[in-house]
Amino acid sequence: MPVPNYMVAKALRKLHARRSYDGIDEDLRGWNWDRPPLKPRAYLGLSMYDVVSYCPTKRDVWLRRVKRVHVEPSLPMKVGSLVHEVIHGVSMIARKYLVLNNKPWKLYGVMVEEVSKYLTGLDIPEGFEEWFKDFSEYLITQIISEASWNTVGGSLNSWLPWISEVRVDGSYLGLSKNLRIDAVMEGGLVIDFKVGKPNDIHKVMLAGYAMVLESNVELPIDYGMIIYINNVGGIPRISLEPIYLSSDLRKDFIDYRDDTIDMLLSDYEPKPAGQCPESCPFKSICGVR
Ligand code: SF4
Repeated sequence: MPVPNYMVAKALRKLHARRSYDGIDEDLRGWNWDRPPLKPRAYLGLSMYDVVSYCPTKRDVWLRRVKRVHVEPSLPMKVGSLVHEVIHGVSMIARKYLVLNNKPWKLYGVMVEEVSKYLTGLDIPEGFEEWFKDFSEYLITQIISEASWNTVGGSLNSWLPWISEVRVDGSYLGLSKNLRIDAVMEGGLVIDFKVGKPNDIHKVMLAGYAMVLESNVELPIDYGMIIYINNVGGIPRISLEPIYLSSDLRKDFIDYRDDTIDMLLSDYEPKPAGQCPESCPFKSICGVR
C-alpha cells in the first residue's frame, strides 16, 4: 500500500458513524443488477471513463465511441497510467520476496535491484525516470516497513490482504466485461489511485466500482478510499480521502451511466465544453485551447 495501514484505519473510523444514520438503499446494491434502477437500458460495454467522463459535455465519449477518433494520450494521462502500473508492479515484486522471507528488513537491496530492472522495461517519458525510481523506492520502503512490524509485532500480514489491479465484470451494469479496480483490501474496501486534484467525479467512479464489485461477489461494499498521488516530478505527495459509498453517490453513478447510454443511442452531438481539463487529448479536434 502506498500509505501506512494505520492511516487507512484512522480514516475509515470517521465513516462508521455515517453508515449508522445513512444506510444504503438495497435497490442500489450491485447484486440487484437485473431490475430498475440498476438494470441498464442498453449493454454497451462502457468504460468507467465513458460513464463518468472528465469532459463536461461527454464529447470525449462521443468522439471515441461514435466517431471512432483515436488520439495519443496526453503526457499527464501517460504519467497517471504509469503511476498505476508502477504501484502494481512494485507490489507484485514485493509480494514475491515477502512470501518467502521472514526478515523483511533484509530485502530492501534485492527489491530495489529487481524494481530498477522492471522500470527499464517501461515506457517512461523523458525527464520522469528519476521520479519513478524515487517513487518505487518509497513504495518498497513503505511495504517493508509494514511487513517488518507485522513480523516482529505479530500482527496480521497487512500487506497481504491488499490485492492490486482486480479484474471485474462490469457487464451486469452495462459496463465493460474487463473493468480494472486499482485495489481491494480485505474487508471489502475498494481503492482508487488518482494522480491530480481531488474532484467529486472521483467519488462517483468509486461508487460505480463498488456496485460492479457487488454485482460480481454479492457482498456489500460500503467504504472506499481515494489515494491521491501528486507532485509528480518533485517529492511525491500522497493523501487519502475515505468515502462512504452512500445511496446518493450510487444514484449519481446510475444517472451518469444512463445519460451516457442515452447520448450514445441518440443522434445528438455533444458540443465542445467551455472549460476543458488541461490534460484532455482531444483539444485540437474540438478546437479548444
Ligand atoms: S477538448 Fe473539451 S470538449 Fe473536447 S473532449 Fe476534451 S474536454 Fe471535452
